[in-house]
Amino acid sequence: MLKKLFGSKSNNEKSSPKNEASKAALKSTSTGENRSARSSSRSGAQKKPRSKPSVKAWSPSDFVVPVVEGKTRFHDLGLSDELLHGIADLGFEYCSPIQAQSLPFSLQGHDVVGKAQTGTGKTAAFLITVITDLLRNPIKEERYAGEARALIIAPTRELVMQIADDARALTKYTGLGVHTLVGGLDYDKQLKKLENEYVDILVATPGRLLDFVSNRHIYLDECETLVIDEADRMLDMGFIPQVRRIIHATPKKDSRQTLLFSATFTFDVLNLAEQWTTNPHRVEIEPESVATDSVEQHVYMCSTEEKFDVLYNLVKQPEVNTVIIFANRKDTTHRLYDRLKAHGFDVGVLSGDVAQAKRVKTLEKLKAGHLKILVATDVAGRGIHVDGITHVVNYTLPEEAEDYVHRIGRTGRAGTTGVSVSFACEDDAFLLPNIEQLLGTKLKCEQPPELLLEKAPYVKVESKSAARPRRNMGRRR
Ligand code: AMP
Repeated sequence: MLKKLFGSKSNNEKSSPKNEASKAALKSTSTGENRSARSSSRSGAQKKPRSKPSVKAWSPSDFVVPVVEGKTRFHDLGLSDELLHGIADLGFEYCSPIQAQSLPFSLQGHDVVGKAQTGTGKTAAFLITVITDLLRNPIKEERYAGEARALIIAPTRELVMQIADDARALTKYTGLGVHTLVGGLDYDKQLKKLENEYVDILVATPGRLLDFVSNRHIYLDECETLVIDEADRMLDMGFIPQVRRIIHATPKKDSRQTLLFSATFTFDVLNLAEQWTTNPHRVEIEPESVATDSVEQHVYMCSTEEKFDVLYNLVKQPEVNTVIIFANRKDTTHRLYDRLKAHGFDVGVLSGDVAQAKRVKTLEKLKAGHLKILVATDVAGRGIHVDGITHVVNYTLPEEAEDYVHRIGRTGRAGTTGVSVSFACEDDAFLLPNIEQLLGTKLKCEQPPELLLEKAPYVKVESKSAARPRRNMGRRR
């Protein structure tokens, strides 16, 4: 059934090289010739485009943003009305620095290599580029199931879901289809969606994407724009061999547009950027010092035994509305989850061993304001963009100083101020100097206030963590 639907494609059938003109010009003409050349190999698989939602008449003049010197408005970038409408709905007014510095180049079809962390607006920067390209170059020929026009690869499932959410919001009025492929979720469900709708924008983690490519359920040889997000994390997580194979399945670098983002520009990242991009425009946005400006940071010196009592009393304070608690190890997050649940809190947990469907539900609950507390590890917690987090707790200090900045950046978002509380105990206080060095400032260490030192009441804890297989215990993340 599937075979018939997707057709088969011989191994030596390759995309035609398209390196004669500038990429910007190429992008407007590239897709047609290849697609019609291939029509016989994927016959029977033409899909329907998404229908656009019917909305009452909207024009850019409804999106009033005053001209301000030194700021770039989205109106000034030549974006389509459908995309501007999505941007207006999101409440964006002016471009963030990464957007203002990259969009004038990327919208012309140039490659971009950007140094930018989460929180800078980099996701919208690459999505606006991708969406504009797709809308400027509509495909008139037949299209086939599983042919991705734009591919975004990111290292974690959470990040993929987050990018896809942003993509859905920005494409709301465009009729473009957004698909996600991540491990841990039902393969067949993901496949079914691919069968039924054009793959305009595909957001994926490397492993699951490769499964789809190997099974010939996804074709990347028509991919016009490739985005590699968090390249440094991909390196750290050992994904580069998989990413290489994925890139090999896309058109050659002078026949596609490539946008690569990384929080750091290490030698290795720049080396990959060199291999995968052509004459890129380079943009560097300095680390999230903003996050630390909008976050009141406390470091409580306490013993390992005192930590839970302080945490318990802290989350009960009236000003603590929603809190993310970070710990370094999965078993610590599960133990905390069990104990907080036993104390009657609305709590969720995000760590690498929690089933993906459960993680998605937990994030939805957090976004909807149905959870007071989320306990998370760094990988699972990275890139969570939920407004209204009033507090972040570092139950254990992160081993990587950068993770401290990522963690506390989950609060104090969207113009609000937040509070971070880090516990420094005999096991991890030695990590503070590295964090202070990265922040460029000393952190004031305090004794926890008297009212937080009271013993937490005794409750019986149903320890689901204890039932977890031993091999899952004690590994970081
Ligand atoms: P990112 O760095 O992509 O993770 O984005 C961080 C947050 O900034 C997200 O919640 C976006 O919705 C928001 N954002 C992105 N661009 C803008 C903008 N131009 N104006 C206001 N908020 C933005």
